[in-house]
Amino acid sequence: MKAQPQASHFVDGTWLEDAAGAEIEVIYPGTGEVIARLHEATPAVIDAALASATRAQKVWAAMKPVARARILRRAVDLIHARAAELAQLETLDTGKPIQETEVADWPSGADALEYFAGLAPTLTGETIPLGGDFAYTIREPLGVCVGIGAWNYPSQIACWKAAPALSTGNAMVFKPSEITPLGALQLAAIFIEAGMPPGVFNVVQGRGAAGAALSTDPRVAKVSLTGSVPTGAKVYAAAGAGMKHVTMELGGKSPLIVFDDADLESAIGAAMLGNFYSSGQICSNGTRVFVQKGIKERFLARLAARTAAIVAGDPLDPATQFGPLVSADQHAKVLGYIAKGKEEGARLVCGGAGNEGPLFVQPTVFADVTDDMTIAREEIFGPVMAVLEFETEEEVVARANGTQFGLAAGVFTGDLARGHRVIGALEAGTCWINAYNLTPVEMPFGAVKASGLGRENSKAAVEHYTQLKAVYVGMGPVESPY
Ligand code: NAD
Repeated sequence: MKAQPQASHFVDGTWLEDAAGAEIEVIYPGTGEVIARLHEATPAVIDAALASATRAQKVWAAMKPVARARILRRAVDLIHARAAELAQLETLDTGKPIQETEVADWPSGADALEYFAGLAPTLTGETIPLGGDFAYTIREPLGVCVGIGAWNYPSQIACWKAAPALSTGNAMVFKPSEITPLGALQLAAIFIEAGMPPGVFNVVQGRGAAGAALSTDPRVAKVSLTGSVPTGAKVYAAAGAGMKHVTMELGGKSPLIVFDDADLESAIGAAMLGNFYSSGQICSNGTRVFVQKGIKERFLARLAARTAAIVAGDPLDPATQFGPLVSADQHAKVLGYIAKGKEEGARLVCGGAGNEGPLFVQPTVFADVTDDMTIAREEIFGPVMAVLEFETEEEVVARANGTQFGLAAGVFTGDLARGHRVIGALEAGTCWINAYNLTPVEMPFGAVKASGLGRENSKAAVEHYTQLKAVYVGMGPVESPY
């Protein structure tokens, strides 16, 4: 199986190679085969991308918003026309089942492009009457933005960052994760085919050092990162030193709270979705499932039965519901957490081992988990659910908030007043009541506390990719004391 792109990078409207860069092997997690060999960006490639973006941004920003929108919409049409091919590439890049990549990855990215294409032309400033004088505001693009992606939703992340940035007149240099570098290159090529000026969206490959070089360059106005908390801290500090804007979409250890009056099957479905979809490699997963005491054993019994029916297998087989982890490192890390869970006294309800090939980890449920256990405190980023028992609302809110993370939270209850009250008390940026992990583009997505800052999607994202210019207009002679 091969998925070799035309070149490693896409800069100034065209494919670009520089064989002097260190090699990146792209491995299909379904079989362990090397499907492509790319090169990291050398300083020359990074410089070319930033120079091109700096030039192109001026051209792009000078275009009317509807003209930019038309190009973005053509890109959306191209993505939909190539849906099958793009889903297959995403599966090869990530190992996620094709039944997921067909509905969740590129389609969600295309939604973001369509939404911001429509929204950006509606943006206006304000006029502020000031007696005889007045002031007005203009929402201007920031300039050149850098996007740095994680490996779990590589193409969706590229689109989620490109859509608000480009629609509002910015240019972008995007660096995908070195583990999943393929999808973003296709997006860059699609934009050119849709008529975007060369250089508005560039893709360069590389590991952390390439991301660091981009985040510190003086030509860059903003850095938007999706990644782990430790990387976020580094990138935020580097961007801060240059007074750059940031969006940080980082890790989590989110609570999903199930009260005893909840629709049990629905809550179990949500807990499975929020722990096993994409083999658990989702930042907003509800990995601490707090279940009220009275229903806990029933919850666990049904959960175990439904989990046993999950179909694991070849990610390219349309019947497969559950695939491997993305890499050998991630596989070892997740199995390490499972060992830790057992060692620290959690009760293994189901799963706990590998299956179906070297990078698989079974959907795993631990019960009798306590707040101090490692599996309740650290982000595992694999298919490992920790079920914790609670008795009262007050208790569960305090325990749910007892973490450095604040990405997401969910509540299942038949009492909607309680649902709103509990969500109101939880420290999280993205929340669900009687639902979990749904992230439509119309809804803001983001975090509080160590899980990040800024928002992606929705009208809120516009504020993170534009800045206000305020203009005072004097209508009469200047009154000066001099
Ligand atoms: P990571 O932090 O290891 O890497 C993320 C990206 O940052 C990669 O492209 C990497 O090359 C780059 N990078 C690493 N060091 C850098 C540096 N010093 N300067 C600039 N760039 C640097 O994360 P990962 O393992 O790729 O992804 C998993 C993590 O991402 C998890 O913690 C997950 O929760 C998080 N995530 C968050 C969201 C969200 O929206 N909140 C979404 C997906 C994933």
